[in-house]
Amino acid sequence: MTRPDAGGAPASPPSQPLWHKGWYRYARALASPNFGPRPEGAQIDLVVIHSISLPPGEFGNGNVQRLFTNELDWDAHSYFQGIRGLQVSSHFFIARTGALWQFVGCDDRAWHAGESSYRGRSNCNDDSIGIELEGLEGGLFEAAQYETLTGLCASLFQAYPIAHIAGHEHIAPGRKLDPGPGFDWPLLQDALASPLGVFPK
Ligand SMILES: [Zn+2]
Repeated sequence: MTRPDAGGAPASPPSQPLWHKGWYRYARALASPNFGPRPEGAQIDLVVIHSISLPPGEFGNGNVQRLFTNELDWDAHSYFQGIRGLQVSSHFFIARTGALWQFVGCDDRAWHAGESSYRGRSNCNDDSIGIELEGLEGGLFEAAQYETLTGLCASLFQAYPIAHIAGHEHIAPGRKLDPGPGFDWPLLQDALASPLGVFPK
């Protein structure tokens, strides 16, 4: 694999590393209290892709960021009654604009997968990285979101031994449906030039 900075181009000015203790340089950091340590020796080899919007289908209102930081006003919308008190998080959130947030360092365990099993291992929160795309389950996603997602996944490949990318629907079949049929798996696969084995069958 060629390093992106290989070649004859002059070195760019001194810059921060891409990753610092599991935090991604190009994400807006918004720390969530909803996380814990990963089990000793966890092999972080799975990226889980989700979709979320609060209330469903409404974008850009900051509610997802509030949910992941326990700041959501449960009385602000009738839909929130059904998730009142929910304590969840994801490592990353990609807004419709492609803007990227990070809530939990990737070396820590975020609370995005719930009861789950994939590649012969259960409790996927233990050894996966969760990426939430702002969207409606089953709906389409924006080109800007795929662009950010591709860059993020490529950077994750460099920092962690990622061997699988799957949707929440694949690791919790029958229980979860996100991101759903509107997510373009071949597009991501082509953009990453990744082997077929990395993606859900
Ligand atoms: Zn999900």
